[in-house]
Amino acid sequence: MTITGTYIKYYKVCHRKTWLFHHKIEMEHTSELVAEGSFIGEKSYPQRAERYRELLLDGSKIDFYDPVDKVVHEIKKSDKLEHSHVAQVQFYLYLLRRNGIEGATGLIEYPKLRQTQTVTLADDDVAMVENWVQDIERIVEAEHCPERIAKSKCRSCSYFDFCYIEESL
Ligand code: SF4
Repeated sequence: MTITGTYIKYYKVCHRKTWLFHHKIEMEHTSELVAEGSFIGEKSYPQRAERYRELLLDGSKIDFYDPVDKVVHEIKKSDKLEHSHVAQVQFYLYLLRRNGIEGATGLIEYPKLRQTQTVTLADDDVAMVENWVQDIERIVEAEHCPERIAKSKCRSCSYFDFCYIEESL
């Protein structure tokens, strides 16, 4: 199986979400929040197309890669910095490294917050990313969907209705 940046991002939020995504129970395309995220990405940085390249690496798509400065750019819609975003970009840096591009860094942009977050991948982090990948494989290959996490953390999840359907009946 191919682990992508989306798997890593979901894994850091919720194992159940990772399992649902892997089993093609996909609800992201109906999410207004995701649509809003795309909108922010397109409108906030109209000049970026000239400088950045889309990169396909081992099944993962990096939307904005600056090959001159070796920087992976990610734009996030959320109104808070999240560790899952950092993990996703660290995974991209890991893929770059595995494909012979050393010393790349990441830059996460939060247009709503007007903040940026720099991301690096140290030598020690490589084993950490490999552990994530192995753990994801274990989770998604399990027969049963993992339990829900605390509801308070599910606020913006596109699977919310799926997970809490019985409470709305
Ligand atoms: S609604 Fe909560 S428990 Fe369900 S997949 Fe999303 S984050 Fe996980």
